[in-house]
Amino acid sequence: MAWTNESGLPTVARTTGDKAGPRVGAPRMEVQFTEEIQQLQLGAGATFHGEGILAITKALLQSGVAYIGGYQGAPVSHLLDVMVQARPYVDTLGVHVEACSNEASAAAMLGASIHYPLRGAVTWKSIVGTNVAADALSNLASPGVVGGALIVVGEDYGEGASVIQERTHAYALKSTLLLLDPRPDLPTMVNLVEHAFALSEASNMPAVMELRIRACHVRGRFTAKDNVAPKQSTRALIDEPAGFDYMRLAHPPVTFRHEKLKIEQRIPAAQRYIAEHRLNERFDAGRYKDVGLIVQGGLYNALQRALQQLGLADSFGASDLPVQVLNVTYPLVPQEISSFCAGKRAVLVVEEGNPEYIEKDIVQALRKLDVQTRIHGKDVLPAAGEYTVEVIAAGLLTFVAEHLPQVDTSAARAWLAGNAERRDAVAKVMGTLPARPPGFCVGCPERPVFSALKLAQQEVGKVHIAADIGCHALATFEPFSSGHSILGYGMSLASRAGVSPMMQRRTLAIMGDGGFWHNGLLTGVQAALFNGDDAVLLIMKNGYTSATGTQDILNTPDDEAKAEAEANANLHQSLAHKNQSIEDTLKGMGAQWLRTVHTYEVDAMRRTLEEALTSDFNGLKVIIAEGECQLERQRRIKPWIAGLLKRGERVERVKYGVDEDVCTGDHACIRLSGCPTLTLKDNPDPLKVDPVATVIDGCVGCGLCGANAHAATLCPSFYRAEVIRNPKWHERLLANMRAFITRPLRTV
Ligand code: SF4
Ligand code: SF4
Repeated sequence: MAWTNESGLPTVARTTGDKAGPRVGAPRMEVQFTEEIQQLQLGAGATFHGEGILAITKALLQSGVAYIGGYQGAPVSHLLDVMVQARPYVDTLGVHVEACSNEASAAAMLGASIHYPLRGAVTWKSIVGTNVAADALSNLASPGVVGGALIVVGEDYGEGASVIQERTHAYALKSTLLLLDPRPDLPTMVNLVEHAFALSEASNMPAVMELRIRACHVRGRFTAKDNVAPKQSTRALIDEPAGFDYMRLAHPPVTFRHEKLKIEQRIPAAQRYIAEHRLNERFDAGRYKDVGLIVQGGLYNALQRALQQLGLADSFGASDLPVQVLNVTYPLVPQEISSFCAGKRAVLVVEEGNPEYIEKDIVQALRKLDVQTRIHGKDVLPAAGEYTVEVIAAGLLTFVAEHLPQVDTSAARAWLAGNAERRDAVAKVMGTLPARPPGFCVGCPERPVFSALKLAQQEVGKVHIAADIGCHALATFEPFSSGHSILGYGMSLASRAGVSPMMQRRTLAIMGDGGFWHNGLLTGVQAALFNGDDAVLLIMKNGYTSATGTQDILNTPDDEAKAEAEANANLHQSLAHKNQSIEDTLKGMGAQWLRTVHTYEVDAMRRTLEEALTSDFNGLKVIIAEGECQLERQRRIKPWIAGLLKRGERVERVKYGVDEDVCTGDHACIRLSGCPTLTLKDNPDPLKVDPVATVIDGCVGCGLCGANAHAATLCPSFYRAEVIRNPKWHERLLANMRAFITRPLRTV
């Protein structure tokens, strides 16, 4: 046991307990967006500095938006997170903010713009979120909107993406939605948001704005305008509901008429607006006018950088080749395309992803208008994968070599060859580098469940595991390598429906509480109960939708529970049990076999899993694995601890360690845990070669090391220490006495 007496740590701003907005439907987090909210309030003439996604958020308010909703997900989470915390301010404008239960409810929210001249914006991560929203999107796009409807999607494509690689473009085509892909430049993005609403109203088409990761995080500035309070709002209520109008329903027979309206009126109206307001940009001051480039707006910055590598653009974006920037990628305006291409020998279309919808659209438009320009695209650029600067530069080299052979591209070739050589050299020295997949946070409450699952399978045999979206999906990596399929957010239980009747052993479905509320309750639990399925569901109840940024959900511990924990000075208490909404819901639906187990009780979890997988009970068996998200918990307790220390109060911190003299070096503990702070160091015994396990500084004392050692009957090398700061007098006395006795032994 170690004793310290530290006090007077720097004050950390308190982030809990003073957040704005009501609890219900108002997810709040331990992260504060104070500066962002100030930026949202800037008035006309002030300069906004910041990231693209925040600029978009400000632009919504400048556009007179009346309601905002969505479901969080990278890279657009910031929009909703900031808006939710900004509620007290946006309330003054009469703007309604709603944290939707999933993307389908967000898309359905846009139904307000079908009848009423209300501008609405919702946001989610695409493609997965758009898939969830697809039904409502079709039914929104069919009758169309009178108030501008804008969907800001995070186009999670390419390096750093966390979802399957598909394009939102397909939805724009099939449902006749406007698709904007703004050039990553803050004034352009803000301008496009304002136009998106007007374009939506002019064409009656809902608009989608796709933002790649780089566009969301591009930094810049723009001159702000005043925010606009909507004419009809929570502060200026609509007197009467709209009159009955069958045309506004997505219901046959009017859907046949809608289909014609889309083609005959809405798309032409959109094309007129796009052309009249020059939403697509043309940069054609360059010297090589008989060739050109057409690029999706979102790729413009990467294209310019690639041109610069070829010596065909300067650092400020002036290009030697004419560039047509498609800030609106659907619908295209054929006359714009033909006027750009006419008289050019060749044009390269820079379009990321597969299939090449835009390239085909362009070829078709030119063919119909009898423009014979040669079009390149996927013949010189890769069919799939992110278009980084390097990738675009390689494609440009091929294009330039054929159509501008007079251009000296040796520097660009040398640059690409140099990159390849460096990679080869690193590979030769280092060999194949091990993959470094993401892992659970240190102290994550979900890690112990997978330790228990490993142990349980040693008893009952291997089981089919239907995995899900969420932090628990990190268990698909080593040392757990757990999970056979991931079919969508909250879909695990549903996805085992076809497997479990065919399987000798029971299958296990795992989902988080975020996934449970998002979709799992209906698609999985309801179906399993209705069909009387013999299924096992394990719900990770960590209290937040952690993987998307720890937003609150229905079963998040409320402020009262947090305050109670503080009042009891209980640093180690999990708060997940304070909210029983999942348990109550399951009971209400008729679930009969229900167990709640704290995740750090590895042995109890192992036994419960074994029971569920072998029990005679024939029906849905649900295990609730309860343990508060460590990331959110650490954020919550950090300022609290700082406050205690500042006041000179006693603070106890638990740490685990490994006795290097006892450790046998078999590393069974590491294979069972995977905690990054449980690692290896050289064996201090010169007669032993195997490195020993060691716990490094980041250990948060979650207790898993001890629980695993007990549950798996590992070697007795782990010890638990309580580090006490500002100890009481008797603790200090006891420590001195212990030191007095043990000091002579240490020198033996
Ligand atoms: S965010 Fe929370 S639930 Fe997710 S890995 Fe970290 S501690 Fe675990
Ligand atoms: S107790 Fe073990 S598992 Fe928990 S944080 Fe410390 S080293 Fe990691």
